[in-house]
Amino acid sequence: LVHVLISGVSVAGPVLARGLIAHGHRVTMVERAAAPRPGGQAIDVRGTALDVLARLGLLDRARAMRTTMKGVSVVNIDGKELWRSEEETLSGGRFDAGDLEILRDDLAALLLEGVRDDAELIYGDSIAAIEQTDDAAQVQLTHGGTRRFDLVIGADGINSKVRRLIFADATELRALGTGLAVFTAPNVLALHDWQIAYREGQGGFLLYTARNDQELRIAVGFPLTQDETWPTSLAEQKSMVLQRSARFGWEMPRLLKYLEAAPDFYFGPVAQVRLDHWSSGRVGLVGDAAYCPSPFSGQGTSLALVGAFVLAHEIVLQPDNPRAAFARYHERMKHYVELNQALAFIDAEADGKQQRLDDAKWAIRLD
Ligand SMILES: Cc1cc2nc3c(=O)[nH]c(=O)nc-3n(C[C@H](O)[C@H](O)[C@H](O)COP(=O)(O)OP(=O)(O)OC[C@H]3O[C@@H](n4cnc5c(N)ncnc54)[C@H](O)[C@@H]3O)c2cc1C
Repeated sequence: LVHVLISGVSVAGPVLARGLIAHGHRVTMVERAAAPRPGGQAIDVRGTALDVLARLGLLDRARAMRTTMKGVSVVNIDGKELWRSEEETLSGGRFDAGDLEILRDDLAALLLEGVRDDAELIYGDSIAAIEQTDDAAQVQLTHGGTRRFDLVIGADGINSKVRRLIFADATELRALGTGLAVFTAPNVLALHDWQIAYREGQGGFLLYTARNDQELRIAVGFPLTQDETWPTSLAEQKSMVLQRSARFGWEMPRLLKYLEAAPDFYFGPVAQVRLDHWSSGRVGLVGDAAYCPSPFSGQGTSLALVGAFVLAHEIVLQPDNPRAAFARYHERMKHYVELNQALAFIDAEADGKQQRLDDAKWAIRLD
């Protein structure tokens, strides 16, 4: 049996932990945030990723938590409706596609449930350094001292610290020209199960009701060139969002007033992670850390669910041979990742987009 350290407790981390614990392996998880993080968009679980939830025995509960939006109005910058649909939303796609749309934080909480009791969970800490020997990885935590593990897995998202530690000089982030911010406000528009979207070039806004129409999840996108400096402090990030959103008319100035005191805030460049390898020795990557496809693909959460499930399976088959387990994981996932990353580059209105998505979401089978 092996002792595995997982960095990041969101979507990929808990699924991997579940798979390992189920076979008696020891898991320690370290998460930078002080507690489970709220917020994020309504995200989609599609194709083989639904099979993962079913294998974990969570599909029925996840379906019961799904979003209840009935459609979308696409508006101009002043809020005038240009068209509407009751057959799809922009966040979740067509209602008849069989996919599941759920709030990111609801899914993360569900996945974490069974892990809480069986894994060692360390919040408010992070990996500072990893040193590998033939038979172990010595990990230095920022606050928690030095510890020894058999394997270390980075499930720590698009800006993965583990990735930077093992592939120091790789330029693996491919920015797609847009910045994205998401926050929650009260439903002051009194919308009922509805979504409103404004799109322009590399930006726009998308907002929708959540949690029985109590909340609005508000996403704004804005053009962002690759060489622009990306603010790191929360205050600067929020001020950048306000500045880039100032041109929006309609109710947006009123809604943006809720940004300052919002209970959650997600902010980042829309980007993909492209790597030839997802592991080095006893250290591997999973989910966005390894192959973030970007929100434009709508497949980040599905890749994280499937990737974590497959990786757990391969480690369980050969716990003492991490190199071989990582190689099998890469081999099984590569084509699926490529097809899903490619979705980010297809225009939303392009012919055949739905078919490409249907092909990509099923492009891997669980053993
Ligand atoms: C709060 C939040 C809001 C999000 N909102 C959106 C959204 O609106 N739209 C969208 O497309 N995607 C969003 N995402 C990303 C989305 O969850 C992922 O694309 C997808 O689900 C893949 O999940 P993941 O587990 O691989 O990575 P993530 O969900 O990104 O999780 C990574 C986890 O690692 C933690 N972490 C980061 N660095 C370290 C470190 N150095 N040490 C320890 N832990 C670390 C993070 O706090 C996070 O909990 C959001 C993620 C988070 C955490």
